[in-house]
Amino acid sequence: MAEIKLHDKLEVLFDEVMHRNAGETEFHQAVHEVLDTLGPVVVKHPEYVDSAIIRRLCEPERQIIFRVPWVDDDGVVQINRGFRVEFNSALGPYKGGLRFHPSVYLGIVKFLGFEQIFKNSLTGLPIGGGKGGSDFDPKGRSDGEVMRFCQSFMTELYRHLGEYTDVPAGDIGVGTREIGYMFGQYKRITNRYESGVFTGKGLTWGGSQVRTEATGYGTVFFIDEMLRSKKDSFEGKQVVVSGSGNVAIYAIEKIHQLGGTVIGCSDSGGYIVDEKGVDVEVLREVKEVRRARIGEYVELRAGGATYVPDRSVWELGCDIAVPCATQNELSGAQAAALINSGCKVVAEGANMPCTPEAVKLFAEAGVMFAPGKAANAGGVATSALEMQQNASRDSWTFEETEERLAEIMGRIHDRCVETAEEYGQPGNYVAGANIAGFIRVADAMSALGIV
Ligand code: NDP
Repeated sequence: MAEIKLHDKLEVLFDEVMHRNAGETEFHQAVHEVLDTLGPVVVKHPEYVDSAIIRRLCEPERQIIFRVPWVDDDGVVQINRGFRVEFNSALGPYKGGLRFHPSVYLGIVKFLGFEQIFKNSLTGLPIGGGKGGSDFDPKGRSDGEVMRFCQSFMTELYRHLGEYTDVPAGDIGVGTREIGYMFGQYKRITNRYESGVFTGKGLTWGGSQVRTEATGYGTVFFIDEMLRSKKDSFEGKQVVVSGSGNVAIYAIEKIHQLGGTVIGCSDSGGYIVDEKGVDVEVLREVKEVRRARIGEYVELRAGGATYVPDRSVWELGCDIAVPCATQNELSGAQAAALINSGCKVVAEGANMPCTPEAVKLFAEAGVMFAPGKAANAGGVATSALEMQQNASRDSWTFEETEERLAEIMGRIHDRCVETAEEYGQPGNYVAGANIAGFIRVADAMSALGIV
């Protein structure tokens, strides 16, 4: 992975991160990807290395690991492991989602928490970075089991949370249902209706309009800005989206509204092809209502669509690719195939879905590439809008909130472009996002002293 030569001082820091966090490969990858772009920054501002700002950034402020015991429907005691990594609070309370998936371990939570620092900084809003989750697998579990798990998880985690301390949200395996069970338990234990302690809440209990749609919509607004910068648009473009969860569904909806056609999407079991355009209502019925597998889409769609089991959706060619499933889902070989098919734009709706090899190939081929830190920041930005509405006991309309989201995505886009130019790498959204995100948080850390 470390084939790209880092600035000498950053190489030393990266070696230290590898040794202090042995075995946490996703965390190493996320740190390397950021350090790889900070060379020009440390040349201009050596104080960021000399005052150990970057070293401190790589070390979480607090890491919490705990046991989550619960009883399943057969009366059997189950034990899972819970995590919350409170990474950096220089800009505001820790903010970042909770992921429930069997692959979750400390290295995944730390990679996500680390990325979250820069993403949140890039939004320009007052939020620090954190992430959490559990190796609990909600698939196939009854509502009652999910509720008992969430209650046990929160019975331990509640003491670390608070609207001015740490504010979780959803991620893979955690949507409004799970947030509801966790918020309910938090409220019961603390005897406080503290809306601002969670985002992604339901609309009748403190949630914000557009939060459910925000990550998918925001990613598409970002791509729209990229296309506009080339005097182009979604009109007539064929698009492939991976995943079929929260981010994917609303990305597909917005792409269709803007004139593109999504010809395929997936889950971990395979993918569907629907040349006429994926029908979002059918997809929502399969995924949100039935909580079923993507293959059921074909039966409900009645003609035209096909299901390809056990294969990756990245074997479909397209003009625009939007990976919205999970980390490292798009390999170098798949990137090469996409480039061959004529793909010109790739934007990460998921966190770190493209491997370093894939990102390198996109750059070499002149494919416009938006990293997740920038492209999917609309989710957390709308979470910050939810916190703002909770604090002022206000609620905005769908249109007003969506307009604010579009404005924020436009600003993030411009910040990436301007920063990349300032540091001599025009068109490099990875460098622009990392450097702009880094400088805001680094300056706040400098101002707050050695803490
Ligand atoms: P969901 O749980 O709603 O959906 C995840 C989707 O990805 C499912 O279709 C799932 O399929 C698929 N998937 C998961 N793991 C794999 C795998 N190993 N291979 C193939 N497909 C897989 O999660 P979200 O939509 O909320 O999150 C998706 C991505 O977006 C994640 O990277 C997340 O960190 C990121 N993100 C989410 C935000 C949010 O607001 N929700 C904000 C910013 C980023 P299956 O059901 O078969 O597992």
